[in-house]
Amino acid sequence: MSQQVVIIGCGIVGATIAYELSQIPGLKITVLDRQPPAQASTGAALGVLMGVISQKIKGRAWAMRQSSLQRYATLLPELEAIGLEVPHNRQGILRLCFEGEDRAGWQALQEIRQAQGWRLEIWESDRLQFSCPQVMNSRVTGAIYSPQDTQIDPTALTLALVKASQQNGVTFHFNEEAKDFEFALNGFEQKTCQAVQTQTDRFSTDWVVIAAGLGSTALTQISPQPLEIRPVLGQALRVKLAQPLGDRVFQPVITGEDIHIVPLGNGEYWVGATVEFPTDAGEVVAENDRLQEVWQGAIALCPALAEAKILQTWSGLRPRPHNRPAPIVEPLMGYANILLATGHYRNGVLLAPATAQQIREMILSEK
Ligand SMILES: Cc1cc2nc3c(=O)[nH]c(=O)nc-3n(C[C@H](O)[C@H](O)[C@H](O)COP(=O)(O)OP(=O)(O)OC[C@H]3O[C@@H](n4cnc5c(N)ncnc54)[C@H](O)[C@@H]3O)c2cc1C
Repeated sequence: MSQQVVIIGCGIVGATIAYELSQIPGLKITVLDRQPPAQASTGAALGVLMGVISQKIKGRAWAMRQSSLQRYATLLPELEAIGLEVPHNRQGILRLCFEGEDRAGWQALQEIRQAQGWRLEIWESDRLQFSCPQVMNSRVTGAIYSPQDTQIDPTALTLALVKASQQNGVTFHFNEEAKDFEFALNGFEQKTCQAVQTQTDRFSTDWVVIAAGLGSTALTQISPQPLEIRPVLGQALRVKLAQPLGDRVFQPVITGEDIHIVPLGNGEYWVGATVEFPTDAGEVVAENDRLQEVWQGAIALCPALAEAKILQTWSGLRPRPHNRPAPIVEPLMGYANILLATGHYRNGVLLAPATAQQIREMILSEK
């Protein structure tokens, strides 16, 4: 039997869910966004997928990372096969180690990853100097190299997923804000959503997926347990050098002290990002000093960056659940058919495939 699904939000999370659901026969999928796609947090993201190199080793946090890593390995070729190429970097992530850091912890992680079927390499400083001579900082003592971790362009991926979903029959309505829901009581103190209303339209539905990032707070006020998703600001830069840093061929993402240096090709790099928390009143304003700190921090790691021309700076708001771990992927309390896929904070690009798989399973288990 045919069922209708309305997805609210077309950042990386909503777009990935739309694409994964579009492969289930019998689902009629509509995606609503109050803006064009990939304009909110996703449009600001650097797309660094900290999977194998993350410190998460067990439970849900690792399970989601692992299933995302596995799905990314098939998703990118799948999109390429239909002519949708997404810029990405398969040269891995190099995480710098600093004086005083506990090497034993990294060795333990290396062993755990090996047992889980993943690879991490521990590099002493001579190996680091040989492979990445651009790193010149006396406090750096070596590095952890994660060859199976990736970086992708989040906006390009979202737009590719929109196109691929459209080819599979998904309908998108941009610049349409979900404003309200229509319900029926199903007798077990649970309500069922029958339609989503926007300012101009009404969309009948069997399922609603709220993938609205920061917009999820307003949309969940209907529940006895509404979400509170708070903004955490991130600023970043795009810079250009006359020639690439270090070795022209080996260009991994370099990360150290929470600063990412992301190669884009042609001597261009993204550098970021700040992590700026809101005031008690919920306000957060981009401060130039904070961006300068990140930029000077990047130059301290790779001094050749000082010669770079700054092409662009920007900021975005990460959706962070208040008093709850990120992300939130579960039914909305009090509603039989509203699913939450939100609050991905710093790892929405990384965790979008695992989130989509979980939403897919929730819908299939009831279908
Ligand atoms: C500077 C920066 C760097 C980052 N770097 C990384 C990184 O390297 N790796 C990583 O994994 N993550 C990174 N992130 C985090 C990542 O960007 C987010 O976790 C991710 O984009 C969240 O995706 P989303 O689709 O849930 O939310 P969003 O991209 O915010 O999308 C939500 C969408 O919902 C829409 N919406 C909201 N309310 C409504 C409504 N009522 N009706 C219709 N539409 C609505 C919005 O318009 C928006 O398009 C970074 C974030 C920032 C700011």
